[in-house]
Amino acid sequence: MEHSYLMPQKGFYGEFGGAYVPEILHKCVHDLQETYLPIIGSESFRREYRGLLKDYVGRPSPLYFARRMSEKYGCRLYLKREDLNHTGAHKINNAIGQALLARRMGKSHVIAETGAGQHGVATATACALLGMDCKVFMGKTDMDRQRSNVERMRMLGAEVCPVTTGNMTLSDACSAAIRYWCSHPSDTYYVVGSTMGPHPYPDLVARMQSVISEELKWQLVEKTGRDYPDCLIACIGGGSNAAGTIYHYADNDRVRIVLAEAGGRGVNSGHTAATLHCGSVGILHGARMLVMQTPDGQIEEAFSVSAGLDYPGVGPMHCNMAAKGRSEVLAINDDEAIRAGYELTRLEGIIPAIESAHALAALNKLKFGADDIVVLTLSGRGGKDVETYLDFNLYVDGHDDDCE
Ligand SMILES: *Cc1c(COP(=O)(O)O)cnc(C)c1O
Repeated sequence: MEHSYLMPQKGFYGEFGGAYVPEILHKCVHDLQETYLPIIGSESFRREYRGLLKDYVGRPSPLYFARRMSEKYGCRLYLKREDLNHTGAHKINNAIGQALLARRMGKSHVIAETGAGQHGVATATACALLGMDCKVFMGKTDMDRQRSNVERMRMLGAEVCPVTTGNMTLSDACSAAIRYWCSHPSDTYYVVGSTMGPHPYPDLVARMQSVISEELKWQLVEKTGRDYPDCLIACIGGGSNAAGTIYHYADNDRVRIVLAEAGGRGVNSGHTAATLHCGSVGILHGARMLVMQTPDGQIEEAFSVSAGLDYPGVGPMHCNMAAKGRSEVLAINDDEAIRAGYELTRLEGIIPAIESAHALAALNKLKFGADDIVVLTLSGRGGKDVETYLDFNLYVDGHDDDCE
């Protein structure tokens, strides 16, 4: 019964998951299914991966007791600081792991999709580190919105391939990466950026991110005397930082799991990315999951102020856990997230990514006991989001005129 929510059965988590790929990719996906566990479980892979996580990424990421936030919310709040990783978010844990796997599978070329550019930057970084060839597919709209990440990827030596189909955003970039993979199946490894895509990607990505909760276990013992919290909170786009946060606690019923998805302008506004609230079962990018779609199955564009949560699907593991009632899912609207991001900035001196600010906004909607141990994953840092925060104009408490 170990990890019953985590172990896909023949590639399925309950009714979600699977590997729905074109004929031409069957062999690639099958090879990956057959080889990923032996490779990532091997002593030599683990040694190399763990070494890089420690000395290159900067792990373990700190578990920080947020005193002023704890006072405000009436609990003992700890922040898991993935924002302090090299390149600024949790995504590097997965990108380095998969690039190492690709090399061991004898693949010389790496491709990736990216929305905001965070996964593209993480993959380009891993490829520079390991001396691998890297192409990143990115929607033209996102390239225009996220110029600095495009420049970072180019500086790292990656080729950024503009995608001009559909809405020219993340979902179209995924489709373009899959199309490219179909025409170069033998030498190309596709680094998927979240717990999505055909089996085994959701499981592979969850395992790469599981280092987050592996560290939590001993860090909580050090700080609180026991190895589990009362409540875990994470934001959820495709589901990878959430999967890493809950991995070693999924089957521990004493641990409450709360996930914050992007409500955008509101779940009923038509401008939302709250897939677990608004989606229906469909197949997207190789897996059966909840998808935002029209009644006749056209994918609907997701909307959120946060580029990293702006995906019209959500990984199969999370679809299953939410359907079974194991996780509670809250939809957080743009303005709530922005406010929560400002609050952390002012109370703790940490500017969070707007993605992570969605998790922080969940604190307002939950009730805790004073002794409850709450762990919230700060998935990334907010340097990339400063302009977006300021554009909302929520906290113009004009200290500027006190300068004289
Ligand atoms: C990409 C991203 C997310 C959302 O992706 P998940 O796979 O759901 O974790 C959240 N936070 C940050 C900082 C990101 O870059």
